Amino acid sequence: MKILGISHLGLAVRSVDEATKFFSGALGLPAGGQERVEDQRVQLSWHPVGKSRIELLEPTDPSSVVARFLEKRGEGIHHVCFIVEDIKGALKELQAKGIRLIDEIPRKGAGGCQIAFLHPESTHGVLIELSEESKI
Ligand code: ZN
Repeated sequence: MKILGISHLGLAVRSVDEATKFFSGALGLPAGGQERVEDQRVQLSWHPVGKSRIELLEPTDPSSVVARFLEKRGEGIHHVCFIVEDIKGALKELQAKGIRLIDEIPRKGAGGCQIAFLHPESTHGVLIELSEESKI
């Protein structure tokens, strides 16, 4: 498999609006846009940083993964997303290497990407997302 770069860092926040005051207001990162991702039950606000971006994730449902993360650990870095060339091939390869996957089949992420998460048990405690950018 080939990792082409870091797509984004996902940060769990209690309020996208409050967090944007810091990331755009104080740090001066431009506002890329907002999107409600129903599949992950989050309101997402993204901010470009060079070729990568920061994604602020606010839960829209108290039973969502991000809501449970906030409850357990508070605000902070939730996941790192790597861009891969061929996500299906990458998942097959990782599975063959005995890496535990959360998603064995890629699902649809923000912006029409195909994404999949690896289980933190196999990744030294870091939730890793793989993303194949949409080619359109
Ligand atoms: Zn992500």
